[in-house]
Amino acid sequence: MTALPKHLINSPSCSHAPENGTVASARPRCARPTPGAASGGCAFDGAQVVLYPVADAAHLVHGPIGCTALNWNNRGSKSDYGDFHRLGFTTDLQEIDIVMGGEAKLMQAARELVARYTPKALFLYNTCVGAMIGDDLAHVAKQLGQELGIPVIPVDSPGFVGSKNYGNKLAGEALLQHVIGTGEPAHTTATDICLIGEYNIAGELEAIEPLLRESGIRLLSRLTGNASFQELTWAHRARASMVVCSQALIKLAEQMHERYGIPFFEGSFYGFGATAAALRTFGTLLGDASVQEQIEATIARHEAATREALAPYLPALAGKRVFLYSGGVKSWSMVAQLEELGMEVIGTSTRKSTEADIARIRQQFEGTQKILMEKGDGKAILDIIEREGADMLLAGGRNLYTAIKGKIPFVDVNQERLFAYAGYTGQVELARRLHATLTSPVWDLAKTAPCWEVRS
Ligand code: SF4
Repeated sequence: MTALPKHLINSPSCSHAPENGTVASARPRCARPTPGAASGGCAFDGAQVVLYPVADAAHLVHGPIGCTALNWNNRGSKSDYGDFHRLGFTTDLQEIDIVMGGEAKLMQAARELVARYTPKALFLYNTCVGAMIGDDLAHVAKQLGQELGIPVIPVDSPGFVGSKNYGNKLAGEALLQHVIGTGEPAHTTATDICLIGEYNIAGELEAIEPLLRESGIRLLSRLTGNASFQELTWAHRARASMVVCSQALIKLAEQMHERYGIPFFEGSFYGFGATAAALRTFGTLLGDASVQEQIEATIARHEAATREALAPYLPALAGKRVFLYSGGVKSWSMVAQLEELGMEVIGTSTRKSTEADIARIRQQFEGTQKILMEKGDGKAILDIIEREGADMLLAGGRNLYTAIKGKIPFVDVNQERLFAYAGYTGQVELARRLHATLTSPVWDLAKTAPCWEVRS
């Protein structure tokens, strides 16, 4: 494998690294995977989270089949450009390849894949095994690119080099070095923007893109939810960009700012306040008065319609106490979204959150005894729910059974979910899901004594 990009390792925007390498952070550095404990959280996993949504490009994993199988198709990114992100391609390295080297097998697999599926581009991912046997992914990618006539992008992301977050950055680096700036759009406008770190989970862009269009803003490039490979190549022509998932790709936004002068901000589309703030910040960065007027009109129109649509759900949600066990940007943006629905968030998790995310949560929780949970397991979550008298748990699918064991209403808010909660329509969808869960008769039934106990 090639040398690790030092600027990413020492990145001050890494929430867990010391600022500028000097000032100690409140949190330790990004944890490195430990043997046997990297499942679902290695650098390779992080890289594919970022790049797999590019669905008209094929993604070939150079490693044992287990690396592919571990995280295959476990995110709900939707795409209009194909379904390569739903397929798993791997070189399935075996013992003999470890002895003889795997480059020939990688070349052969890539040829076969491209001949059979004709993707627009090919991403090659290195894993621990490919890196440890010394296969040269960059060299293979160059040779394949010349032979196959499509862009072939090496993503040097063996799991052992770092955390999932570090893998996110390696994917961003691969985009910056090999993809962004290699193409040109048919035309550009003064209101072209780029969304970075938005993965179109459950089709959330369907709620966001119309708002941008109504505001006179053109979404030039999506990195990477619902993106075509081609649009990634001209992301450098954007006039402003928004980092939607702050931890994953902020370094990419910083580098695009340095290299192409594209101003950026961190934001979210969860809830009235965040959505309006995101649109207004675009208006400010684009510096176009007519766009700013259109943004205000869009916000006013949608807020009014959304408040009307929310009315039937709000009485049942008012005052309900929620524990939000979700990491990253959702830990602060969803707190505000839930409070806008009249609910009370008793605490949230800060795992995978950046220092900036945590600062935002602290600001939201200021003057209260609300809980910031760094890391927890099912028992710790249930203890909090019982102690604090929470009415429901919002978390990822892995905690579904925690909620069932605790006989407490549960709504999935993580990447596997089937429903989109971003933008104004997402706000109504979230209210509908929360209402349906809270008012389901199943919870009263679950809390009654079982029939065999009643008989005795
Ligand atoms: S890349 Fe390494 S840590 Fe990640 S799944 Fe494969 S073997 Fe495990």
